[in-house]
Amino acid sequence: MIKKVLVANRGEIAVRVMRSCRELGIKTVAVYSDVDRKSMHVRYADEAYFIGPAPSSESYLRMDKIMEVAKLSGADAIHPGYGFLSENANFSRLCEKEGVIFIGPSPYAIDTMGDKITARKTMIAAGVPVVPGTTEPIKDLKTAVKIIMEIGLPVMIKASAGGGGKGMRLVKREEDIVNAVSSARSEAKTAFGDDAVYIEKYISSPHHIEFQVLGDKHGNVVHLFERECSVQRRHQKVVEETPSPIMTQEIRMKMGEAAVAAAKAVDYYGAGTIEFIVDDNLNYYFLEMNTRLQVEHPITERVVGVDLVKQQINIADGLPLIFKQEELHQHGHAIEVRIYAEDPDNNFMPSPGIIKHITEPLGLGVRHDGYAYEGYEIPMYYDPMISKLIVWAETRQEAISRLKRALYAYKITGVKTSIPYLSRILDVPAFVEGRYNTHFIEENQQYLLPRQGCTDRCMDVAAITAFVDYINKLERLQPDKPAKHLGNNWKDLGRKRSVLRY
Ligand code: ADP
Repeated sequence: MIKKVLVANRGEIAVRVMRSCRELGIKTVAVYSDVDRKSMHVRYADEAYFIGPAPSSESYLRMDKIMEVAKLSGADAIHPGYGFLSENANFSRLCEKEGVIFIGPSPYAIDTMGDKITARKTMIAAGVPVVPGTTEPIKDLKTAVKIIMEIGLPVMIKASAGGGGKGMRLVKREEDIVNAVSSARSEAKTAFGDDAVYIEKYISSPHHIEFQVLGDKHGNVVHLFERECSVQRRHQKVVEETPSPIMTQEIRMKMGEAAVAAAKAVDYYGAGTIEFIVDDNLNYYFLEMNTRLQVEHPITERVVGVDLVKQQINIADGLPLIFKQEELHQHGHAIEVRIYAEDPDNNFMPSPGIIKHITEPLGLGVRHDGYAYEGYEIPMYYDPMISKLIVWAETRQEAISRLKRALYAYKITGVKTSIPYLSRILDVPAFVEGRYNTHFIEENQQYLLPRQGCTDRCMDVAAITAFVDYINKLERLQPDKPAKHLGNNWKDLGRKRSVLRY
């Protein structure tokens, strides 16, 4: 049985994994880089070890150093979180070789699903629908043009080793094919050291819908339903919800079965996600599999009532799944938003810096997975995500209202955040009505621009100015009552706020 877990990650996901370990009575080991000495995951863990300078290539990606810490600390398992080494088959192999349990899938599953062309071939063999396109890398441009014209424009040129939207090009016109292929290739070469690209039909008005799966080491695989991730900016998810507003029970069952078949095709064990692209007629096509825990996993945990990290640990321990497909159900509605240290009103520029003040939202149905605290400096070296805010309610409309309420209460100063932008998304009619696809952000720019003359900061200034006016007015009316008493009275302040809403 696993007794001590090394978490080879940082930030909110490291803390999130450690929380489940603590509930299971498992000891935790943190690793940290130079700039993470004061990070929450270091404080939260039972033990913490320094592994190197800030750049992740010299710390969080150093398999040798991480393995050394595993040995030194006596950890019997390593949880990789997401990102960093989580989808690195060589790391999974190294763990196997060193006799340390890798809390994740086999190197074979990571390798097969990590290469999009191999994954497409494997899915076709397993009878899982894939986006129409090629199953071999483009060799010469002439043949590529011929194939594209057969498939029909528009198409996507995609990197086989792709991830994070890199090495991907949309081609609408014949004359753009050559440029798109060569720029996708060179981007893929720089990002992944592999320039293999292939062709996929472009699905218009696409929805990104993914299925969570769990498989054990005894051949059992179940799915935990879908997550709708179509609110994307530059192919990156911004808001996720479950259930999907466009899903029908019939398609859900079919897609769930396809997801299980996809996982079984690679003898999958652990937690994984099968991503599908879905058109307006609910035709669905396999996009890729993420062989790790996803950022957006909490919405599934909440609606299905399963702690995915605990399941990952049990599976890694060799235990069989504790539930059958028919025992899993969705209950209510959950939405997650990602809070970034970035300036949405200045082209989403990262905004690293010291958090001066943070008031986290609380209350019924609110979960906040974060790691920042007052005085903490968000380093510039890593993903600038500060936290994830997740809400749950019985209905979608109630969940949206709850999320608005939670975002209203969420205050961070010292760095700019995406909070005002996320609030605007929740007011867009297409989102409120659940009629949106991956073009949502580009199609709704008019709703997403900063509200004229009233950013968060200016709201604060307006509120303070109005409050001072109010005190002055009261003082004029009640000259014998000093203003400071009014200011200290929470009831007055509460009433004041309701008058002062902008
Ligand atoms: P990556 O692994 O780089 O994130 P994905 O294959 O997961 O790339 O695609 C990311 C996003 O790009 C999808 O969620 C979708 O919005 C868009 N996309 C990818 N392939 C297609 C396609 N064939 N047609 C339309 N949109 C696509």
